[in-house]
Amino acid sequence: MSSLPPGAEKIDHIGIAVKDLDAAEKTYTQLLGVPPYKRETVASQQVVTSFFKIGESKIELLSPTAPESPIAKFLEKKGEGIHHLAFGVKDIVASLAKLKAQGFRLIHETPIQGADQKLIAFVHPKDTTGALIELCEPLQQGL
Ligand code: ZN
Repeated sequence: MSSLPPGAEKIDHIGIAVKDLDAAEKTYTQLLGVPPYKRETVASQQVVTSFFKIGESKIELLSPTAPESPIAKFLEKKGEGIHHLAFGVKDIVASLAKLKAQGFRLIHETPIQGADQKLIAFVHPKDTTGALIELCEPLQQGL
């Protein structure tokens, strides 16, 4: 179960940017056969999120709460679709330090409080072949 620290342990979730959270929740409830288990606003990111759990993995729907939200900008540029891929890590501070030492540009040099009781940080997509990568570490183990 344990891997070499500070590596990624699993795909924790996939983030999908949506314009209409109510409509997207209905779509994903039909698609996955389960309703979302929580809806949460993340003030620091100006988003409202909705989470679905499928086995070990989650789907995070993200919708902007303000025009200057990063998700609003993403929707403007690219439209709805996959926004980021999140890897679960055990020690996010150590993981960020390792990535930085390897030359990855970090959007967050230190982790911030994200949705779903997690510390999160993003790695710049220019250094990850275009995919926005999030690292996340649960604030409480066992979620
Ligand atoms: Zn996420």
